[in-house]
Amino acid sequence: MKQRIEKMDLKGKRVIVRCDYNVPIYNGKIVDDTKIVASLDTIRYLMEKDCKIILLSHLGKVKTEEDKELYSLEPVAKRLKELLGKEIYFSHTILSPDLPNHVKSMLPRDILLLENTRFLDVPNQLESNCDAQVSSFFASLADVFVMDAFASAHRNHASVTGITKYIPSCIGFSVEKELASLDRFLKNPTHPFTVIMGGAKVEDKLELLEAMLPKCDYLLLAGGLANSFLKALNFNIGSSLATESTKMIEKLKQILLNYRDKLMLPLDAIVGSSYDKNYTHYKRINEITDNEVIKDVGIKTLEKYKSAILKSKTIFLNGTLGVYEDMRYSNGTKELFETLKKCDAITIVGGGDSVGAVKNLGYENDFTYLSVGGGATLKYLTQGHLVGIDAIMEEEEIEVLDV
Ligand code: ADP
Ligand code: MG
Repeated sequence: MKQRIEKMDLKGKRVIVRCDYNVPIYNGKIVDDTKIVASLDTIRYLMEKDCKIILLSHLGKVKTEEDKELYSLEPVAKRLKELLGKEIYFSHTILSPDLPNHVKSMLPRDILLLENTRFLDVPNQLESNCDAQVSSFFASLADVFVMDAFASAHRNHASVTGITKYIPSCIGFSVEKELASLDRFLKNPTHPFTVIMGGAKVEDKLELLEAMLPKCDYLLLAGGLANSFLKALNFNIGSSLATESTKMIEKLKQILLNYRDKLMLPLDAIVGSSYDKNYTHYKRINEITDNEVIKDVGIKTLEKYKSAILKSKTIFLNGTLGVYEDMRYSNGTKELFETLKKCDAITIVGGGDSVGAVKNLGYENDFTYLSVGGGATLKYLTQGHLVGIDAIMEEEEIEVLDV
């Protein structure tokens, strides 16, 4: 068990918190503040303990000087101010020599948000390469480090793993909740356990698929992964998204042999065309022609998948059943959510776009748990641990002094 925030002696201390403020921002406006809201429990707790609070986060991918214009954390400071009803100090510079003095002058309960840690990646990747000087500089600002960014916990970065080398560390409430939920529902899932995998990524998800197959009773497929399996079975999938790798196709053939009883593939599809935007047709899976593109599952597939879902006690979903962003191809995903809403099973959704689809289609309150992790969640479920969590002290770790 990792050290929890409530087990730390934090009264009046300087505490540096790694948050996940990687929020969607368009034209300087935050479109979805879920992640900011998720950080409030930890911040409020630290305020109750009269801490001086320093917040760190990355935002977006920062590769060039121009990217810095797009990815300042300043809008997050504004939103935090509104949510907490108190001043949030914002530091435009990160490695400034004035910063330690600034922290010294902070009062208990004061909050300071530093600029996007990935600004340090231009030009020398200091954040992403876990630079020792940057890590120790962050650590020098505080007495304790709180890791509260589950979605970044798979990254060996200065603001994630780096700081833990220098000061005592613990997990914040948001990470604690995420770990507890994933462990509780998915480590020893109540059977029958059904995994549903769809979406756009193919090669990326093979590892998750392989990790889930021995654990689950049914694995229902859609999207790029299903298309790749159909391709391995020599179906014509037209111009649909699928793997091009012969090595992966061989692997999928092997998986089909080993797990024939668990895997379920689409029986029908709603297809578009590779050259005509207005073309939409219903097709049985063996009727697809060269220029057609599988965009969604059809009604027969949904019926088949529904029967597996209704037998299940635990269901994990990653990836949508179709290109749900386009109304013409959102029926599969919507019908799936509707079935999951009505079934009695524990329902967990993991993956950035999948959770996005749940929210956009209005099913936010109809699942047992929506994982905030994206890539980190998939990695945790695949490998069973994450570098950013491994780096945190164990709960029982007590310093033994040589007498
Ligand atoms: P997550 O981010 O949750 O891991 P993905 O990114 O893998 O999930 O899946 C979501 C994306 O998959 C959506 O943008 C959707 O449009 C796309 N998608 C779903 N089905 C198909 C399909 N048949 N062909 C191409 N893209 C698809
Ligand atoms: Mg995605």
